[in-house]
Amino acid sequence: MAIDGHSSCGKSTMAKSLAAKVGYIYVDTGAMYRAVTLFAMRQGLFDAQGQPDAARLEALVPQIEVSFRLDPATHLPLVCLNGEVVEEAVRTLEVSSHVSAIAALPFVREALTRQQQRMGEEKGIVMDGRDIGTVVFPQAELKVFVTASAEVRAQRRYLELTAKGQSVAFEDILRNVQERDYIDSHRELAPLRQADDALVLDNSELTREEQMQWLLDRFEERTGASASCN
Ligand code: C5P
Repeated sequence: MAIDGHSSCGKSTMAKSLAAKVGYIYVDTGAMYRAVTLFAMRQGLFDAQGQPDAARLEALVPQIEVSFRLDPATHLPLVCLNGEVVEEAVRTLEVSSHVSAIAALPFVREALTRQQQRMGEEKGIVMDGRDIGTVVFPQAELKVFVTASAEVRAQRRYLELTAKGQSVAFEDILRNVQERDYIDSHRELAPLRQADDALVLDNSELTREEQMQWLLDRFEERTGASASCN
């Protein structure tokens, strides 16, 4: 199942809940691009304008291993970079500000797309990202494209980061959300776009419960399976 859409529109929360309800495995592909970005930041590969040194990063690709480990308490996947859990470290505004430039690099996309396709071979996967329904799994049984206004998304992200104790300004988050939308939609390779056969969910005015019900109804329609026994 493919859940794509704009930045910070609650895709991962929805995808996680849906996976838990229907007994599928959840894969957060944004976390994979974020982990590669964290690696590049730690190696000092960004210049003062925030542009990555693509040639040096490409040479270091064999040294980057992105994987997931299940949190024993929550049973949710935690993203790892070379064996280190970096789930928290990849969620900072600094990583968010650099990730779209990394995600536009063809060699990064090729490596992560291949890895994602291998992860989906077994089926029973809910994957969220930007290009899952268009490039990674064009044959997905259900494709959802999620969106909401930039202001609503920035506000949600602001509350999330401040709740974690990060000191951030709303305007910076709004700018980041808009910039990422722009870069993600305009890059040459696998740009963010709605697949022709995706169902659109604008969740600006919906509660989490309403979104979940909408998603479960679509899942049941598409697969004929009821999630209520899980
Ligand atoms: O989903 P999340 O906001 O964590 O994704 C971070 C960034 O990773 C996106 O802004 C985008 O640049 C990139 N991304 C991507 N393709 C995906 C998932 C994420 O390009 N499938």
